[in-house]
Amino acid sequence: MSDERQGFGGPIGTSKRSGWCEGSSCSPLLSKTYQAHPVRLHIQIIICGRNSPLVLSTNQINLTNSLLTAKMKEVTIGIDIGGTNTKYGFVDRDGNLLGDSSMSTTGHEKIEEYIEAVVRAIAELESHITEEIKLVGIGIGAPNANYYTGTIEHAPNLRWKGVIPLVKLFQQHYDVPITITNDANAAAIGEQIYGGAKGMDNFVIITLGTGVGSGFIVNGQLVYGHDGFAGEFGHVIAVRGGRMCTCGRKGCVETYAAARGLVLTVQEELAGSQFDSDLRHIHAEDLTPKLIFDAAERGDEVAKSAFEYTGKVLGESLADLVAYFSPEAIFVFGGVAKAGKWIMDPTHRHMEASMLPIYQNKVKLIPSHLPDSDAAILGASALAWKELG
Ligand SMILES: [Zn+2]
Repeated sequence: MSDERQGFGGPIGTSKRSGWCEGSSCSPLLSKTYQAHPVRLHIQIIICGRNSPLVLSTNQINLTNSLLTAKMKEVTIGIDIGGTNTKYGFVDRDGNLLGDSSMSTTGHEKIEEYIEAVVRAIAELESHITEEIKLVGIGIGAPNANYYTGTIEHAPNLRWKGVIPLVKLFQQHYDVPITITNDANAAAIGEQIYGGAKGMDNFVIITLGTGVGSGFIVNGQLVYGHDGFAGEFGHVIAVRGGRMCTCGRKGCVETYAAARGLVLTVQEELAGSQFDSDLRHIHAEDLTPKLIFDAAERGDEVAKSAFEYTGKVLGESLADLVAYFSPEAIFVFGGVAKAGKWIMDPTHRHMEASMLPIYQNKVKLIPSHLPDSDAAILGASALAWKELG
C-alpha cells in the first residue's frame, strides 16, 4: 500500500543517523519523516547487531502500526437494500461487525440522491469506528440484483424502475471492488463463510420472510445461471392452479410458505373448521407468523394445522429441489422459520416422504446459523470477501 492511501503525505525528508544506537554493526535500513496532519512522524528501522536483529524506533510509536499497514484491520462494507430500510456495516474477515446502522430506503426520488445519502451515512458510521481500518471491498444485497451486470433490474419493491446501474453509481464514490447479488444469494455466501455451512460445498439456503428466497451453492460456488437470476425457489410452482402469486402465476411456493401464505392458510383453516381458536378473534390484517407460533405453543389446533399444511407444501417442494442438486443441507432462515419445530418438523417429514429413496435420510434440514439481526449485512459483506478470495 502506498503512503498516500493511508492519508499520509509521503516522506518529506530522510536522515542517516539514528542517534540512539552506537553499535558498530548497526546500520540504518530506513529513516524517514512523514507529515501526517496534525502530527509530524519520524520513523527509523535499524539493523542492530548487538541485541535484536531488528529495532524499530519512532517518536510517535502509536502511529507506526497504521503507517506500516500490516496491523491495519481489513474490512468490507456489507449493504443490504430492502424496500423499506437499507442496512450497512463494517465487517472484518472473521465476520465481526465493527459497526452497523440503517437508514430509510424510501424518500429519495432519484437513485443518485439515495446513493449519496448511503455514502454519507457510511462515512458517518466510519467516523465512530475507533480501530484503524482499511476498506478492501463492498458487497451489496438487493432485490433483483444481477451479479454479472452490477444492476438492479425491475425490482418490484423499489421506487426506481427499470434497470439501475447500481455498482457503477457506487463506484463513483469508492475505489474498491463492489459486488452485488440478491439478498438470498448473499445469505447463502454468509452461511458458507460465517455460518453453519463452513466446509460445505453443496447446500441451499431458503429464506422464509415477506417472500421466499433461495441461494444455491453447488460444488462450492454460488449458482448464478446464465443471466444472473438462478435460484428462485419461491417461484417454483408447488400447487398447480393454486394461490395467485405476485409474479402473476398461480401456486408458487411463496404463496404458501412466506408470511402471507401462512396467514392465508390460517384463514382457510378457520373458515373450514369449528375449532375454538384464539386466532379467530384476530383481524386478518393483524395476523403474523409470531402470533400463529404463539397460538401453536398454546396448543391451538388451527395454528398447528396451518404449520402442518405449510410444512407439507414446503417439504414436498424441497424434495423436488433435492433431486436437482443433491445438497448436503438445506438451511432455513427468516420470520416463518422462527416457528422452530412447528414448521421444521412437518417440513422435514414431508420432504423425506416425498424424496426419491436414494436421497432419503441424507439431507439435513437445519435453521440458519446466521445471527438474525446482522444476517443481511454479514451476507452482503461475505459476498465481498468471497470476491476478494
Ligand atoms: Zn410466483
